Amino acid sequence: MSESFSERRGRGKKVDSELSVSGLVPLSAVDFPGRLSAVVFCQGCPWRCGYCHNPHLLTRTSGQLSWPEICAFLGRRQGLLDAVVFSGGEPTLQRGLGEAMRETHGLGFSVGLHTAGPYPRRIQALLPHLDWVGMDVKAPFSTYPLITGARGSGERARRSAQILVASGIECEFRTTVDPALLDAESIMRIADELSALGVKRWVLQEARHEGRINPATVVMGTDPAIWSPEFVENLRRRFPVFLVRRAAIFG
Ligand code: SF4
Repeated sequence: MSESFSERRGRGKKVDSELSVSGLVPLSAVDFPGRLSAVVFCQGCPWRCGYCHNPHLLTRTSGQLSWPEICAFLGRRQGLLDAVVFSGGEPTLQRGLGEAMRETHGLGFSVGLHTAGPYPRRIQALLPHLDWVGMDVKAPFSTYPLITGARGSGERARRSAQILVASGIECEFRTTVDPALLDAESIMRIADELSALGVKRWVLQEARHEGRINPATVVMGTDPAIWSPEFVENLRRRFPVFLVRRAAIFG
């Protein structure tokens, strides 16, 4: 039986109170591989990475855009967009995320998620709603707090990665290489850890220095060993798909 208008409006209000959205990119060709997507930027993140390029998204606030406004926009894009990507900040911070994803599917769009994996149990609960996930892997799991400033963050990220790999959902794991925080040895440890987890697609991306949350982490130049053909080839052998992206923005 189809939902009445008042039932739908009531649900929309509940999602709205549990989903803080600070912005919307109406069209992106890069945030969900192979799909044209809109990107919903959720407000708030529990971690504080020095290279974060979205410091304005880190504090949890009531947000700028309501969920009904976003649904109205998506309704006008049916047939023009393939997917909606929930990004941030950290989208899994939002208690209304699962319901928002369910409604997004109901409007006919695929659903993507960008996450750093701080809430593995929420990732588990979101699996039925996910078509694609991009997960940020910041460091060898034992050294995560040096980057995130959060105790226990590495174990949370490892558990999230395990859940995603086991789910069989299409995923891209990616690591931003900041030479102040990661050397060649650390990167090889990440590669070994992800390979042991069964990760199929890993992307190594160079950090950009502009606009970051903590200018003290800026170091010009990079460890040449990281980008040498021999080192990159050594990494490539560990994954079915391995890519390098230079000068990425990450958040
Ligand atoms: S880089 Fe990602 S996980 Fe780190 S503070 Fe920024 S939004 Fe949060």
